[in-house]
Amino acid sequence: MKSIKGIYLLLGSNLGDRMRVLDDTRILIKEKVGKIQKISFVYETEPWGIRNQPSFYNQVLEIQTGLSPHDLLKSLQDIENEIGKIKLGKWRERLIDIDILYYDQLIIDDEYLTLPHPEIQNRKFTLIPMCEVNPDFIHPIFNNIQKELLLKCPDKLNVWPLNTNLV
Ligand code: AMP
Repeated sequence: MKSIKGIYLLLGSNLGDRMRVLDDTRILIKEKVGKIQKISFVYETEPWGIRNQPSFYNQVLEIQTGLSPHDLLKSLQDIENEIGKIKLGKWRERLIDIDILYYDQLIIDDEYLTLPHPEIQNRKFTLIPMCEVNPDFIHPIFNNIQKELLLKCPDKLNVWPLNTNLV
């Protein structure tokens, strides 16, 4: 059944002990943001944009929080800083990047926050774990569910699940 409620985050790391970084990030999210309702597998993803850098580990979380979208963003940025964000420029390596993908059906576009995240439909490393966690969640602008967005997605980069023996 199509769904309209849910707050979804995308975690991404391509530096250091990437699995450990994701583990530590989830611990801080539980401490500072709220409950984690669902988690996807960790997916290993070829780097997007600039190719000669380590691959990314990506994971989607469905969370519950009483924080407003902007307060959520602020808390996630504090967590990124706490994990020790190393920014080497756009699309370069980073210890942890946390994006808000969706906040229910809210549409926001201001200087701090764009919701839904503007690149969801272009990135298999977002859509594949999103389809695992909630394939029927409706994108409030395109009015497509995640499965439909994945079918239409032009991204050709490889994305493969890590912590599963199903493949
Ligand atoms: P980056 O660390 O390169 O992902 O960029 C972070 C910047 O993107 C911050 O300044 C945020 O204010 C901004 N931003 C806009 N929309 C979002 C979103 N949906 N999730 C996370 N950051 C966002």
